[in-house]
Amino acid sequence: MKLAEFTDKHIAFREEVREFAKKELLEESTQIERKGEFPWHIINKIKERGWLGVNFPEEYGGLGLDTTSYIILVEEIARVCASTAIMIAAHVSLACQPIFVHGTEEQKEKYLIPLARGEKIGSFGLTEPNAGSDAGGTESTAKLVGDKWIINGNKRFITNGTIADLIVFTATQDRTKRTHGISAFIVEKGTKGYEPGKEEDKLGLRGSITAELHFEDCELPQKNLLGKE
Ligand SMILES: Cc1cc2nc3c(=O)[nH]c(=O)nc-3n(C[C@H](O)[C@H](O)[C@H](O)COP(=O)(O)OP(=O)(O)OC[C@H]3O[C@@H](n4cnc5c(N)ncnc54)[C@H](O)[C@@H]3O)c2cc1C
Repeated sequence: MKLAEFTDKHIAFREEVREFAKKELLEESTQIERKGEFPWHIINKIKERGWLGVNFPEEYGGLGLDTTSYIILVEEIARVCASTAIMIAAHVSLACQPIFVHGTEEQKEKYLIPLARGEKIGSFGLTEPNAGSDAGGTESTAKLVGDKWIINGNKRFITNGTIADLIVFTATQDRTKRTHGISAFIVEKGTKGYEPGKEEDKLGLRGSITAELHFEDCELPQKNLLGKE
């Protein structure tokens, strides 16, 4: 079955990424896994190429390529180093993409542009101790008090959790409504009441960061709601 029609540009991009992965990652990937160290120097090289915003328009700090190019990027990097690939995938498709699709112009200016340029690292927090596959079981709460959201709860297994400058995350206003009570929000590193927590010591993907996030009476401005309630 033919899944995607590659253009000459896609084929050239695949060659470019494959060459990069071979030259910059292949030798090191075993050490990255063994040591369980996040490969900052590789990520910086990926950032320099604009690949942390590969599929976003140039006006939003991206490279202006398409979704197929993003898939090619993740696939070719994962071929050599899955830890580096999951970092890119979480940043691009879990943090940047929801802001690109659902963000206001102000949120795109403030958050998407530095993320797509790779000046900031993004992450996405949905999973919780009692909500993995079952997102409807989300227990983290968001209460609108005056003009502020008050967030309480815990996330776990969050890729890029401890290194993220900003996190798109989910919380519920009404647990009885299951998935219909859930909204998405943006929190920035350093916000009072928000702390990244323990990093997992994993069997695989050891060079990637998988961490807990904690919210305790974390106050967010109303405008940090992403999309509709
Ligand atoms: C390396 C890594 C990185 C991750 N990064 C992120 C991230 O960046 N952000 C984030 O939010 N999460 C992240 N996760 C979490 C991941 O999305 C969850 O692990 C996943 O959603 C499964 O949830 P769970 O671990 O709670 O397992 P569970 O939901 O408890 O599922 C356990 C098993 O039960 C099965 N199961 C569950 N429900 C049903 C059902 N109704 N019927 C039949 N079978 C069922 C599942 O298929 C699975 O095999 C990451 C996880 C890992 C391991």
